[in-house]
Amino acid sequence: MNDFANNIIGLFYPNLCVICGENLLQAEEQLCLNCLTEIPRTNFHLHANNPVEQRFWGKFALTRGTSYFFFQKGSAFQKVLHELKYNNNKEIGKILASRAASEMRDNSYFADIDVVMPIPLHPKKLQKRGYNQAEWVGMGMANILEKTMDTTSLVKIKENTTQTKKGVFERFTNTEGVFELQNRDAVAGKHILVVDDVLTTGSTIEAAAQALLQGDNVKISVFTLAVA
Ligand SMILES: [Zn+2]
Repeated sequence: MNDFANNIIGLFYPNLCVICGENLLQAEEQLCLNCLTEIPRTNFHLHANNPVEQRFWGKFALTRGTSYFFFQKGSAFQKVLHELKYNNNKEIGKILASRAASEMRDNSYFADIDVVMPIPLHPKKLQKRGYNQAEWVGMGMANILEKTMDTTSLVKIKENTTQTKKGVFERFTNTEGVFELQNRDAVAGKHILVVDDVLTTGSTIEAAAQALLQGDNVKISVFTLAVA
C-alpha cells in the first residue's frame, strides 16, 4: 500500500500506544517498545517463595505462582487493566500474557503445567461484558506454553458482592461456594494453571482453587497479569 493510503487509514484507525499515546510502528501491538520495556515487572518467577506464592500460604497447596507486573492505582500501567476490563480491549490481555509467557519460558517456570484455566465469570456478568477478560489472559499463556485452555470444567455459580464494602469477616467468607467444579474427570491428575487479570486479596483465586482441589490429584499454580 502506498503512503497516501496508509495515512488515510491512519486517520480513521490511529494506531497509538495505549500507555503513552505515541504512534506505533507496524510491528508494535498496542504498546510501544518504550512502554513495553518500562512495564514494572515483578520477576517473581525467578524467586521461589515470592510474594505471590506467600499470599496463598496456609490457604491451599500452591505449586507455583507469579504475576507479570506491579499494579498501582494511578500508575500508567493501570490503563492496561482498565482497557482489558472495561474498554472492550480483550486483545491487550492476550498480548501481555504472551509477552509474560515468553519471558518466563527461559527458566521453564510453568513448563510442567497441563492445562490453563481462567477464573470464570458469572454467566450474568459475562453476558453484560461480552467476554471474560481472564480468558484472554489465558489465551496468551496457553498459546506460548502450547497448552490447552479449559473454560468449562469450573463454573462461577454465585456472584460475589463488592469486597471493598465488606467487613473483615464477610470479606473472608463471601467467596465460599462461589465456584463449582462441574467436571471432576477433566481435571483429575492435572497440574492446572489458574489465570486471572489481577491479584488483590487472593480470595477469588483461593475459592476457585478450593473448588478445583475437589478433583483427584490436582496440582495448582497461579498466574495473574498484575498484582496489587
Ligand atoms: Zn508507549
